[in-house]
Amino acid sequence: MPGEFCVVCGREDLPTTDGVCADCFAKRTPLIRVEGRPTIVLCPTCGARQIGSMWERRGAPTVLTPEDLMPLLVVHPEAGVRRVRWSEGGKTVLLRDLAASADVAIRGQLRTETVKFEVKIEHHTCPECSRRSGHFFTAVIQLRGVEDGTRETARELRARLDDQWDLLMPHARGSWKEAISWKEEKPEGWDFYMTDTLAARSIVRLGKVRLAGTLKESATLWGRKNGRDVYRVTFCLRLPTPPGLSRSTERDPLERQA
Ligand SMILES: [Zn+2]
Ligand SMILES: [Zn+2]
Repeated sequence: MPGEFCVVCGREDLPTTDGVCADCFAKRTPLIRVEGRPTIVLCPTCGARQIGSMWERRGAPTVLTPEDLMPLLVVHPEAGVRRVRWSEGGKTVLLRDLAASADVAIRGQLRTETVKFEVKIEHHTCPECSRRSGHFFTAVIQLRGVEDGTRETARELRARLDDQWDLLMPHARGSWKEAISWKEEKPEGWDFYMTDTLAARSIVRLGKVRLAGTLKESATLWGRKNGRDVYRVTFCLRLPTPPGLSRSTERDPLERQA
């Protein structure tokens, strides 16, 4: 606009906001910053991160990643971050020196801003890993074929049950899958040890419906806690034999590959 000039640099050829051109504004305003010295809490066993009271990202690396660092950047409300390059050093594994070099768009200009900060890493074993290490479980899912109804070897049976289980898992909620602690190989199938009985029940009910299985539930007294009996629940989920593998139908063994 004619007659307008930047009160800082005096230029008249750039648009101004509150009397300051974009160039001067960006130079005088920190576009990215990091508050204090952030702490990242992670599980050294599985890599999960503690976010508030929740544990997330099991299986993530136990070193810092951009996914850990991006949320630490406080970006000026008018600025847009285009790209960030990170560099990392530090004296110890648990105290890291970080530098973020960010390409930031502000008022039609692209600038590169660098911010240096320290991140403290704390190692805490997540509840899931501490349960696993104590072999804690409240329920067992026995995944089986039909009783005495298959011509498969134990290995073939387990492989087939594995495949069927894999078909089921995309339909299971994340929290149900989280409750699967470990699985054990049995001659007659698989045992899944579960840290949450309701999650176990939800999975087997899903399996009953989606895989046309049959379901049996039984409970055994495990002990007493806070004056109440505590039970461990066993769910036996039997999956039907695919056509051609059934003992009752006599067919050419070659068909087993079909
Ligand atoms: Zn200016
Ligand atoms: Zn863990």
